[in-house]
Amino acid sequence: MSVTDYQLYINGEFCDASDGSRFDSINPSTGEVWATAPAATEQDVDRAVKAAHHAMFEGEWSKMTATQRGHLLFKLADAVAEVAQDLGSIETTDSGKLAAETRGQSAYVADYYRYYGGMADKIQGDVLPIDKPDMHVYTRREPIGVVAAIVPWNAEMFLTATKVGPALAAGCAVVIKASEIAPAPILEFAKVVDQVGFPPGVINLITGFGEPCGRILTSHKQVSKVAFTGGADTARHVIANTANNFAPVSLELGGKSPLVIFDDADLEGAVNGAVAGNFGASGQSCVAGSRVIVQAGVYDRFIEMVTERAQAIRLGDPLDDDTQMGPLATQVQYDRCISVVAASASEGATIHTGGKRPDGFETGWYFEPTVIACPDQTITSTRVELFGPVMSVLKFENEEDAIGLANDTEFGLGAGIFTNNLARAHRVSEKIHSGIVWVNTYRAISPIAPFGGFGNSGYGREAGVDAIHEFTRTKTVWINTSPEPMANPFVMR
Ligand code: NDP
Repeated sequence: MSVTDYQLYINGEFCDASDGSRFDSINPSTGEVWATAPAATEQDVDRAVKAAHHAMFEGEWSKMTATQRGHLLFKLADAVAEVAQDLGSIETTDSGKLAAETRGQSAYVADYYRYYGGMADKIQGDVLPIDKPDMHVYTRREPIGVVAAIVPWNAEMFLTATKVGPALAAGCAVVIKASEIAPAPILEFAKVVDQVGFPPGVINLITGFGEPCGRILTSHKQVSKVAFTGGADTARHVIANTANNFAPVSLELGGKSPLVIFDDADLEGAVNGAVAGNFGASGQSCVAGSRVIVQAGVYDRFIEMVTERAQAIRLGDPLDDDTQMGPLATQVQYDRCISVVAASASEGATIHTGGKRPDGFETGWYFEPTVIACPDQTITSTRVELFGPVMSVLKFENEEDAIGLANDTEFGLGAGIFTNNLARAHRVSEKIHSGIVWVNTYRAISPIAPFGGFGNSGYGREAGVDAIHEFTRTKTVWINTSPEPMANPFVMR
């Protein structure tokens, strides 16, 4: 099989790492090397940040009107839509995520760029009803500065768009670092960016290792904002790195999201929600609804139905249209699923299905869709984010118990509620601690709807109007409109 050698994209040019170093990218479905990417050096990161800084403060980008910036985002949207199928296939080959998902997501990503293209010339300040005579005071929302965007491997085109879209609409320039686990989609995206005609340095795309590349990028003195998606441990490093530049950070971390199913729910729909929330993207989703909390009256039937559905899922080559679940992205993910399921069983959980490598899949990091019944939330699988197709099911008696179980977590990203009782839907939505609540649906996203959490799930919001605030800062302008010159401060009147 031929191996594709990718290049970095810095200041509008494709290039290798300054010292020529590269690393391999592995196809999780075969376990074989299929591409190589440059390991950006300190010098490369510095060059990318300086290119972005120049674009923002001196180059053509700094002189463009917001409307012109918006038009470039529309062009980017069209260019992404045109090659969405190819971008999706590359993401699938690199990460193992199902092509049906990556292709659909790449196509939908175009809508994120369109949404923010439209917003570029609608970012405005206020005139303040100030409490002093002869003063005209107004605020301007200005671009925050150079943005370092760190994206993980589980939804690269999407998580890039949620950062690049609002950042460019605000007038920032960006340096995006892809994960070493799946570097190809970002470098393929560079080819799309290159055709659109952004001034050099507005979008820089680099690959390399967390250490040193991620560290140098997030601590760089000319970086004014870090937008990060990934794990909590790395987030702590990122926060520490920004002690050097005081760049505000937005963090989109993971979760252990509850999915609460009441007796009165449409059970078929609830099972679909649990399947989507746990086995979609092989469970490698920050909003995986991995704690399924089911009311006693439908608990046995739910276990029966969901076990049957898990066993019927077709595993296979993620590029194949018939496949419903592909492999995990890395051996680390696979090993973690194996060990957490084993630990949970030894702690008293019952494995109804799954928990191992499926028969007939000797290569790649395939893991069976797994359903575990957990007596309580001391069981390891109910507490740690697995990032794998492992559903932990818990039983509850009444609404209060359900809310207690749902909120017994350090995370706060997503939550699902399945009920046909309207009042209950509103009541429980309010009481559940999470940034997003889905009622009688799960994992729906939109460029229009803010996305993010709190606690161990991070802070800041991506998507929606809220995301613009992450990439702008407020300047307050005071203008003395008095016909008299400013009074001498040492002469009291
Ligand atoms: P990481 O948090 O390690 O990686 C996320 C990104 O951060 C990658 O681009 C990574 O680069 C980069 N990075 C690593 N170290 C640094 C650093 N010191 N400074 C700046 N950037 C850095 O995620 P993993 O891939 O290791 O996954 C670990 C766990 O995190 C998962 O099992 C899951 O629980 C969670 N996760 C959550 C995601 C979400 O969507 N919220 C997405 C991915 C993971 P590199 O890959 O080169 O190290």
